[in-house]
Amino acid sequence: MVKRGAPASADALHPVGVFGGTFDPIHVGHLRLAEEMAEAIGLDCVLFVPAGQPPHRGAPRTEARHRLEMTRRAIAGNPRFAADDCEIHRAEPSYTVDTLTALRGRLGQARPLWLLLGGDAFLGLPGWHEWQRLFALAHIAVAERPGAAVLESDALPESLRAEITARQVADGSAAGPAGSVLLRRMTPLTISATAIREALARGRSVRYLLPDAVLDYIKENRLYT
Ligand code: ATP
Repeated sequence: MVKRGAPASADALHPVGVFGGTFDPIHVGHLRLAEEMAEAIGLDCVLFVPAGQPPHRGAPRTEARHRLEMTRRAIAGNPRFAADDCEIHRAEPSYTVDTLTALRGRLGQARPLWLLLGGDAFLGLPGWHEWQRLFALAHIAVAERPGAAVLESDALPESLRAEITARQVADGSAAGPAGSVLLRRMTPLTISATAIREALARGRSVRYLLPDAVLDYIKENRLYT
């Protein structure tokens, strides 16, 4: 059974990362984002939260129980990572604001929470349900790709630019439990779950794009064929 992300340390002020995604399947791009942010911010724990029914896109191709199990296998062996099944047990769409509210209830009001996002996901933030409430619930750490700086993007909405201007911090030592935005370049890995699904459907190799344990699970369960 997956434990509902108990942070590794009992210290109530150690920061916790929250990384949501469809994870259909989880791949090395996701894992490096979490690892690099955990190191940069000094996160005590990163909770990987597979989406149940993501509100911002079509239904995932793969059942939630498989996406959760692939996530669990991908992070096995990393004591700082945990899988959290809270969204996949929800009948209604998985709004991040609800997930963070529930996490606040579990972790307390004082603990710094960091929502981890890729730059592409962050640019779409103003389309999210009650997006401005997110800043009251967590800090946001954005993994930028080289050549795709968020502040230089034509796709950056003015409302989001204003939030960055008011909230941007230079590193992960932000004060308080929530409310900062950290933009940080990560190692560029042009890997997407879409490309992995397409390669698998064509019978092409996806080895080294995701952990072997995830690939074994995909084969055992004949996913993406
Ligand atoms: P799909 O191709 O099905 O859209 P995906 O590979 O983009 O999937 P998601 O589960 O949608 O994966 O993404 C979860 C989070 O991971 C998002 O914040 C996204 O920006 C980020 N992300 C996905 N792939 C990468 C990557 N290669 N490098 C950095 N961040 C990534």
